[in-house]
Amino acid sequence: MNDTASPKTFLPYGRQQIDAEDEQAVLDVLRGDWLTTGPAVDAYEEAFADRVGAQHAVACSSGTAGLHMAAIAIGLDFGDVVVVPSVTFLATANAVRYVNADVLFADVDPETGLVGAEQIARAIAGLSEGTVKAIFPVHLTGHTVDIASLRSAFPHLAMVEDACHALGGEYDAGKGMVPVGSCPLGGITMFSTHPVKTIATGEGGVLTTNSQVLANRLRWARNHGMVREPERFQNRVMGFENGEAAPWYYEMHLPGYNYRLSDVNAALGLSQLRKLDRFVARRRALRQRYAERIDALGPHVAMQKVAQGCNPAWHLAVALIDFAALGTTRTAVMNALRDRGIGTQVHYIPVHRQPYYAKRYGPLNLPGADAYYARCLSLPLFPAMEESDVDRVVDELADVLKL
Ligand SMILES: *Cc1c(COP(=O)(O)O)cnc(C)c1O
Repeated sequence: MNDTASPKTFLPYGRQQIDAEDEQAVLDVLRGDWLTTGPAVDAYEEAFADRVGAQHAVACSSGTAGLHMAAIAIGLDFGDVVVVPSVTFLATANAVRYVNADVLFADVDPETGLVGAEQIARAIAGLSEGTVKAIFPVHLTGHTVDIASLRSAFPHLAMVEDACHALGGEYDAGKGMVPVGSCPLGGITMFSTHPVKTIATGEGGVLTTNSQVLANRLRWARNHGMVREPERFQNRVMGFENGEAAPWYYEMHLPGYNYRLSDVNAALGLSQLRKLDRFVARRRALRQRYAERIDALGPHVAMQKVAQGCNPAWHLAVALIDFAALGTTRTAVMNALRDRGIGTQVHYIPVHRQPYYAKRYGPLNLPGADAYYARCLSLPLFPAMEESDVDRVVDELADVLKL
C-alpha cells in the first residue's frame, strides 16, 4: 500500500494512516496472552495521560461510550440540564439523554463554529438557579473553546470537554499554553480515536482527568460498576474471611457497562500516539496551504475563522461558502467534487434540528448555528496528503464554483 495520495486517487475528507509499526503492534497482541483487560490498555492509558499532561487517562470502547461514562461520573441524573452547542456530532447531546438529563442547546459563533460564554449565558437566561448542572463544550474542527471564560462565567457548572477533534492541540486556559486534555480547569476531557480522527484505533475513546474521584467513577462506569479493591468493599462480612480479603470477591456499587477497550485496539492506539506530533504537524501545514489558497478565491469563500488563544491541531479543514451568492447549491458542489475524485462532508447538521430533539424541545432560534451550517464544507485533510493534493482540491473547487 502506498502512503501517499497520488493525483488520481480519490481523496476522502479524512482517513487513517496505518504503517508497518502499527501492524506489528497489533500482531504482537494477537500472539500474546491478553486480548483485553491486559497490559496494552495500561500502557496506552499511561502514555496518553503523559502526552496530554493529565493525571489519569481511562480508555474506552468509543468516544460516545466515553461521553456516557463522563455523564455518569459527574453525577448527572433525571431532570438535570446540560448545555451543549448545537453544532456538534449527535453523541455529545445523546450522552446527556442516556442518563435522563436534558439538553439545553446553545448557539455558536457563525464564523468559528465554537460556543462561548455569551451564547451559553443566552441559553441559560431565565432558568432558575441550580437547574443547569454542566457544560459540554466542543472543540470543533481542532481549534478550541475559550474554557477559561466559561469557567469564570459559570464557576459552579461541571465541565466535560468534547475534544474529539482537538487531540495534539494546545490552548491557553489562563496560565499559558497547555495541551488539550490536561484539564487545567478541572472536569473531564473526552477524545475519540475513530479512524477519521487524529489517531485511529478502529473504534475507541479516551477520557482524561486530574481528579482521582472522577477517574474511579469512570472506571466503574466502564466495567459494570465493579469494585475489586478490598479497602473499598462495603460488605466486610462477605469480602473478608478471618481478616483476609476473599480472592474471588467483588462488589457492584453502581450499574455500569462494558465499555472497555480491547488490548488489540489499545496496542494500535499506543503505536499511533507515537506519531501524533507528526500527524498534527502535517495537518497544520496542509490547513495552512488551504488557507492561503481558499482566501484568494474572493468574497464568497473563506476558511472558517480561527479562534484566538490556541494552537489548533486541525481535524477538519472547513471552508465557509456562500453557495446562494455563487448561484449554486451545496449538493451540486459536493456531487461535482465527488465526480472529480474529491470527498467532502458537512460538520454538522445542527443537532437541535434533528427530529428527535426538535420534537422534544420545540423549535429553537439559534441563528449562529444555522448560519455556520449553511456555509460549511469540510475539505479533504489527512496526513498522507501532499500540498499538491490541497492545490488539486482548491483548483477543482474554484472550477466547480466558476471562480
Ligand atoms: C467522533 C465524535 C464523537 C463520537 O466519537 P465515537 O468514537 O465515534 O463514538 C463525539 N463528538 C464529536 C465532536 C466527534 O467528532
